[in-house]
Amino acid sequence: MGHVNSNDTISLAQLVEWLHQFSTLVNQNKGYLTNLDSAIGDADHGSNMSRGMTAVLDQLPTDGPADAMFKKVGMTLVSSVGGASGPLYGTFFMKLAPALGSNDDITATSLATALRAGLDGVVSRGKAEPGDKTMVDAMAPAVEAIDKSLADGESMAEAARAGAEAARGGREATTEMVARKGRASYLGERSKGHQDPGATSTAYLFEALAASLDGV
Ligand code: ADP
Ligand code: MG
Repeated sequence: MGHVNSNDTISLAQLVEWLHQFSTLVNQNKGYLTNLDSAIGDADHGSNMSRGMTAVLDQLPTDGPADAMFKKVGMTLVSSVGGASGPLYGTFFMKLAPALGSNDDITATSLATALRAGLDGVVSRGKAEPGDKTMVDAMAPAVEAIDKSLADGESMAEAARAGAEAARGGREATTEMVARKGRASYLGERSKGHQDPGATSTAYLFEALAASLDGV
């Protein structure tokens, strides 16, 4: 069980661990992500994310500060991933930086604020609304659940678990949606019945966060 509570701070090492866990999940599920994208896109989401996260870990400055680290993560994704997901995930990570700041210790509140800013960045860059069958359909419920959990007085570890669960729920809900953004939107009604690849990788992002805040 988690032992990060709302009075505790989150360490840079835990955030580095988050990136490692995300990379591991992306790599373990690379073929699956690409299969999902072959149904409603161009069959490259797994390879895009795998290439991006490999570059991120290769170039990761692990000695902090957190804001510089996440700026670098975002820029690496933008420059190493050709697809729509590169700039979108890149924006997400870059937008974490201001709220995390350059302090060694990060509070639950500042992490939640950072995640909210990341989501807002993805929405303003990609212009997807909830229900458009994109990564936003997993990311928005996750951020919402984290905020609610912290507002209810739960620990950051609990909040992150709630976020992961909400992201998984959002991912599942994309199956019945008709895509209105990205390549899948070219299929119109025929995109229905297929789970969105980007929402699937975003569920891994929040599962990775929960795992990194749980066990360290
Ligand atoms: P590409 O579509 O360029 O091949 P990827 O296959 O790597 O890029 O990523 C596809 C995913 O990106 C989609 O499944 C969707 O979740 C996400 N996506 C595409 N366009 C948008 C957008 N405008 N806003 C948010 N997410 C988007
Ligand atoms: Mg694709």
